[in-house]
Amino acid sequence: MIEFINAEKTYPNGTKALQDINLKIDQGEFVGVIGLSGAGKSTLIRCVNRMHDITGGQLMVDNVDISKLKGKQVRKFRRRIGMIFQSFNLVTRTTVMKNVLVSFVPDLSFLRKLFGVYTKEQKVKALEALDKVGILDKAFIRVDQLSGGQQQRVALARTLAQNPDIILADEPIASLDPITARQVMDDFKRINKDMNISVIINIHHVEVALEYADRIIGVRKGEIVFDGPSAKVTQDV
Ligand code: ADP
Ligand code: ADP
Repeated sequence: MIEFINAEKTYPNGTKALQDINLKIDQGEFVGVIGLSGAGKSTLIRCVNRMHDITGGQLMVDNVDISKLKGKQVRKFRRRIGMIFQSFNLVTRTTVMKNVLVSFVPDLSFLRKLFGVYTKEQKVKALEALDKVGILDKAFIRVDQLSGGQQQRVALARTLAQNPDIILADEPIASLDPITARQVMDDFKRINKDMNISVIINIHHVEVALEYADRIIGVRKGEIVFDGPSAKVTQDV
C-alpha cells in the first residue's frame, strides 16, 4: 500500500538525502529502517506523511500519488498516519488525557481546543487508546510526572486515537533506557499484530530492530542497500 517508485529527495540546499528508492510496503507490515546517522532514514519516513516532499519519482499510498494532494486533502491524508518522535512531542504541563484528546481537534477548531469541548465518544476513544498501551491509570496525571517510557506511550495513544492505518516512528526509543525501550517496542508490536496497523520504525539499535521488525530496510548514503526479512540480515549491512 506504500510504494516508492524511483523516488528521490534533494533538500533545497542541494543535499541529496534519497535516491533510487524503490519500495513496496503492504498493510500490516512491521518494518525496521536501519542505517548510520545521516543515511536518510528520517527523510525516508517523513516523505510518507508529506512532512517532506520527494523531489523526483513517485510515492503512492493506496495507489494515490500523494505529491498531488493539496491543502485539505493533505490534512485528511495525514490523519491516517500516526507519527511518533524521539522527543515525544507532548504538552508536558497538562494531563495525559488532554494530550490524547488533542488528536480529535480539527486543524481550525481553535475554539474546541480552547474550551475543551469533546464528545463523550471521543473521551471514550481516548481512554480506550490509553488502555491499549497500558497507561489507563495515568489518564489524569500531568505528563511531566511520567517516565520517558510512559510519555512515549502517551504519544502512541494519541496516535491510536485517530485510528491510523500506518504508524511512522522516528527513533522512538533513542532516548529511553534499554528496559523501557523494550516495553515500548512491545507496544508497537502488539498494536501492529492486533490492529493490523503498518509500523515503520527508524531505529539505530540494530539488535532491537532485528528482534521486533519482520522486515529490515538498510539505508546507506540515501540508498537502500538491504531489504529483506529480519532473519536474513547479516553483520555487514
Ligand atoms: P538519518 O535519519 O538516517 O539520520 P536524515 O534523513 O536525517 O538521516 O538525513 C539525511 C541527509 O539529509 C543528511 O545528510 C542530513 O544532514 C540531510 N538533511 C536532513 N534534513 C535536512 C534538511 N532539512 N535540509 C538539508 N539537509 C537535510
Ligand atoms: P531528528 O532527531 O528529529 O531526526 P535531527 O537532529 O536529525 O532531528 O534534525 C533536526 C531538524 O534539522 C530536522 O528538521 C531536519 O530536517 C533538519 N536537518 C537535519 N540535518 C540538516 C542539515 N544538514 N541541514 C539543514 N537541516 C537539517
